[in-house]
Amino acid sequence: MEQRGDILVVDDSLTSRTLLAGILEEQGYRVRLAGDGQEALHITRQAPPELILLDLILPHLDGYKVTRRLRRDPSLPYIPIILITTMGDSESKVRGLEAGADDFVVKPPDEAELLARVGALLRLKRSQDALVVEKNKVDLLYQVSQELSAELDLDTLLTRILELTNQTIGASGGNIVLPGKRGGPPYGISTRQGEEPVPRQIWETVLEEGLAGWVLTYRQGVIVSDTWDDPRWIAIDEIHYRTRSALSVPLIRAGRVIGVMTLTHEEPAHFAEDHLDLANSIASQGAIVVENARLYTETEKERSKLAAILTGTADIVVVTDREGNILLLNPAAEETFDVQEEEVVSQPLREVLPNPALVELFERGAKGTPPHTAEVALNTNCTLYASISSAEGVGYVAVMRDITYLKELEEMKSEFVATVSHDLRSPLSTIHGYADMLARSLNGEEQEYARRIRIGTKQMAELIEDLLDLGRIEAGMEADYQPCQMDVLIEAAIDSARFQTELEGLSLTATISSPLPVLGNPGQLRQVLDNLIGNAIKYTPAGGKIEVRAWSKGDRVCVEVQDTGIGIPREAVPRLFEKFYRVPSAETKELPGTGLGLAIVKAIIDQHRGELWVKSTPRRGSTFGFSLPRHEGTLDEGRGEQP
Ligand code: ADP
Repeated sequence: MEQRGDILVVDDSLTSRTLLAGILEEQGYRVRLAGDGQEALHITRQAPPELILLDLILPHLDGYKVTRRLRRDPSLPYIPIILITTMGDSESKVRGLEAGADDFVVKPPDEAELLARVGALLRLKRSQDALVVEKNKVDLLYQVSQELSAELDLDTLLTRILELTNQTIGASGGNIVLPGKRGGPPYGISTRQGEEPVPRQIWETVLEEGLAGWVLTYRQGVIVSDTWDDPRWIAIDEIHYRTRSALSVPLIRAGRVIGVMTLTHEEPAHFAEDHLDLANSIASQGAIVVENARLYTETEKERSKLAAILTGTADIVVVTDREGNILLLNPAAEETFDVQEEEVVSQPLREVLPNPALVELFERGAKGTPPHTAEVALNTNCTLYASISSAEGVGYVAVMRDITYLKELEEMKSEFVATVSHDLRSPLSTIHGYADMLARSLNGEEQEYARRIRIGTKQMAELIEDLLDLGRIEAGMEADYQPCQMDVLIEAAIDSARFQTELEGLSLTATISSPLPVLGNPGQLRQVLDNLIGNAIKYTPAGGKIEVRAWSKGDRVCVEVQDTGIGIPREAVPRLFEKFYRVPSAETKELPGTGLGLAIVKAIIDQHRGELWVKSTPRRGSTFGFSLPRHEGTLDEGRGEQP
């Protein structure tokens, strides 16, 4: 049997109409009838047939006119028209074709010929309809991608996707729900949302037990012809209950379902396979733009978080790219350096902030050479403690803290200490001398008292020596430098520490390259090594390891003492080299010390134009390192020189 179709037969003769209808109905076509041109136009506009068999000669409005009017009506789809004519002459055929008809049959028609022509035109009509559907689909998808790709606000975007799909598919409502990322809450939008957003629990239920959940699990679109018969449709409220048919499709991006779009209608069986097809196509376009908008929203959120941190912190933050051009100055940096971020962004740091210490710190950061910290003195008499680090994919970040008050305190301490220690030295040696004499004239228990007085005065004398040392070093006395070999000095320091490390149950290893010529005061350099190794021993519990490394890098000689000890909290690091500073912790309180060792180390290294650095992780251990300029001359050449 021929494919069925809906055909309108227009003829003023009842006999002809009945005859034609009979032939067509016998073949399974659905036939509607019209007795004149007006009626034909009316019926066609009400519900367009798939083909019209139109008599040419009709009262009032003849077949040509009816054809012309139908063809001019933009609201009508393409409908094939076959004119029925008694005149087989070519003139009327030409007029008919010009008016827009597609074919002719002569009255009375030959049955087989009529059916063949009707069948051929219906096939043409169907393929044309299919083309129109495809074109509309392409137009729609183009519109979706055009309209949505510029939109980055997730709410607006989801609403617009729903609107466009509803318009195209003829749904009466719908929603899109996006499951939360990494276990976060889901996010959804519904066409009936109005002012109040749909509560989160509803989205959770829908995703766990409802149709959207099914689509999420099975990663494919589905049509529910009657929601009353389908357990996947959970009627959460009255509106849900009134929904009778639904269509749901996944939004898939990079193989992952990022959301589910559901369309609804109040009538059962509203959605057909081609709706599903179209919804799937829109969903795949939608997935791209939704993912973009989501990424944008997340990036924006991270950006504002970071901006809030950078604005809120009292630390000064300066960020450059890999080429040393400014990327960011936080408000504290703008205020300290008296520049506006937007005016200097993308300009070279060395031009914008021409502070030698800061520029050098960034250069060291770029080369990866220690130390990664520096004191940056500003023209305003302020001193900053700066540390540099490399930020993957960004460049270099310097974080600075104002330590002016600490520097001032340090100076006051120096003056005070120099005066007091000098004045204490002579009374102390008097006490020591008399205690010595006293001991000789006493016996037993009294002699022990005198011994303790001598130990006490000895410790005080050592402390005073340290202080005076420090004073001398800071004042630049004893700066008559000579060439010496750092490797030899280290070996000697290790030798004398060996006994102590064994006593404390520590392992002490060394990796030292040779020669390591430097210019300096060997006594002071030895003092540096003794202090650093001494601290490593003191602050590393039994069983730990100490490693001393020394190597030559470019024109520098570098030394590091690494331990696996108690480590130093981050906030204490900037203060380590202050006089009398000791990390306030239960562990350090138990251990003897004056807090002068590292101050002496710093003073000596500064005098030798060296660099000093610390890396430490609490409970993991610390590494103290320094570098000095390598002395290239022969050992005798440098005698008496300044480094
Ligand atoms: P001290 O006489 O207290 O050892 P230093 O000036 O040598 O004085 O050191 C100052 C402080 O730095 C110490 O009190 C200690 O808290 C900390 N410190 C120094 N070296 C180390 C280290 N290797 N491991 C852990 N903490 C250390």
